[in-house]
Amino acid sequence: MDYPGNIFVVAAPSGAGKSSLVKALMELDTAVQPSVSHTTRPPRGQEKHGREYFFVPHGEFDAMVAGGAFIEWAHVHGQRYGTSKKAIEERLAKGADVILEIDFQGATQIRKTFANAVTIFILPPSWEELRSRLERRGEDSAEVIELRLQNAAKEMARANEFDFVIINELFERALFDLKAIVHAQRLRYSAQRRARADTFAALNIP
Ligand code: 5GP
Repeated sequence: MDYPGNIFVVAAPSGAGKSSLVKALMELDTAVQPSVSHTTRPPRGQEKHGREYFFVPHGEFDAMVAGGAFIEWAHVHGQRYGTSKKAIEERLAKGADVILEIDFQGATQIRKTFANAVTIFILPPSWEELRSRLERRGEDSAEVIELRLQNAAKEMARANEFDFVIINELFERALFDLKAIVHAQRLRYSAQRRARADTFAALNIP
């Protein structure tokens, strides 16, 4: 499938700071739009249906899976999450860039469907820092933290499958790196050719 917009996929072990980075990028660059996923987990805090997620019952999720509505979906922390075709195709077709903040399994599936997707893996600067971020977050029990660290080890061992790696040591630096990846993608020949068709024509560039 060929779209005018880019697909950016951001994955990371939990605690690496993925959500904050993606949120900050979207605040600075409104041409990057989120893909709103469906999930079976209940809303937390101020989350709103249709904004952070489409919160759906298991039956509805099953029906969407059966109907082929998802381009990827996965079990994450005991719940199911999926990216619907609708969530991204309309935006991409209009030329927007879409950013998917999904788990490792989802990123692997997207790479198979969209060969042009730009995949980015966020790493913590060290094990100690990852552990202390998970502990500071105060959301998980000691056992769950151990489980998250084990998962992180498995995922990080496969970081080489991604196009780009950002080490989130200093937030501002990591955000700069993320912006640089997005910007570089927009400077690719095919993207420039589409965005600046008049200039290319005036310069007689095919
Ligand atoms: P949370 O419940 O904390 O919002 O998200 C839990 C995990 O599920 C995060 O790693 C998040 O990136 C991932 N996730 C969110 N949406 C999707 C999705 O559509 N597909 C997949 N595969 N993972 C997702």
